[in-house]
Amino acid sequence: MDSQLGSVLITGANRGLGLEMVKQMVEGPHPVRKMFACCRDPDGARAEALQMLAKKHPNIISVVRLDASDLCSIKQCAQQVGSLVGTGGLNLLINNAGILFKGNVQETSPEDMLNTFNINVMGPMNMLKEFLPQLLAAAKASGIPGMSSRKAAVVNISSFLASMGSIGQTYDYMPAVSYRISKAGLNMLTMCAAEELKKDQILFSLLHPGWVRTDMGGEEGEIDAPESVQGMLDVMASLTEKQNGALLDYKGKSIPW
Ligand code: NDP
Repeated sequence: MDSQLGSVLITGANRGLGLEMVKQMVEGPHPVRKMFACCRDPDGARAEALQMLAKKHPNIISVVRLDASDLCSIKQCAQQVGSLVGTGGLNLLINNAGILFKGNVQETSPEDMLNTFNINVMGPMNMLKEFLPQLLAAAKASGIPGMSSRKAAVVNISSFLASMGSIGQTYDYMPAVSYRISKAGLNMLTMCAAEELKKDQILFSLLHPGWVRTDMGGEEGEIDAPESVQGMLDVMASLTEKQNGALLDYKGKSIPW
């Protein structure tokens, strides 16, 4: 990640890919200036690893409570972060938190659909709306020409499972209908935001992390979190206006919609 990366917020930062992103962004060769590592329950057992990391880097990491499915929680988080970033704003918002139900069409209940949509689509949408003033402030304050993740950007973590063009490769093994539909919705949300906010120089991009051995990806995954995150951070660092609205994998390769 580029040495000049300023303030970054990551959702779902207590385990899996989110935790590894925090780790590499603060312990890599070019640590970010400020990291807002958000999770649902900062005082719970599932946030212990994150809290230990934050203790090691108290000047960089702030652990902030955030339930991505709850608008009140998002508003409180935005208020807290806003008071810390001040006029410099927030440079990079990474919507990483997500859930997956595995069921096929016949097994998927209305509750599964609504829960998944609420976290995987409404979460990033509400995050964008509530953090938009801080992203706009960063775009204005940075003084960097063009678009980049150092200036003002939103990276939404999507999935190859949302790819309509590739469904035949993955459906039998992992139907995950509610998840696929939600991530396809997230893709469209991201394209809409990219179109709407390009005049404000806020960059939007979608990243597929690969099939990663996390709680969600399972033990059969193809790669471990450090490799996925190293790749995604390299891709994030290289983003320009040419990739605004793009859907890329962790190696920077375009994947079919
Ligand atoms: P994990 O299941 O390991 O971690 C999910 C994270 O999301 C946890 O930190 C969890 O927090 C958090 N989360 C879930 N619901 C909420 C919520 N309502 N509010 C805040 N945080 C929440 O998943 P991964 O790390 O593997 O996945 C991260 C992202 O990458 C997801 O968006 C996923 O869809 C995507 N992805 C993953 C792939 C893989 O192979 N692993 C492949 C393609 C995409 P808590 O501990 O509180 O539950």
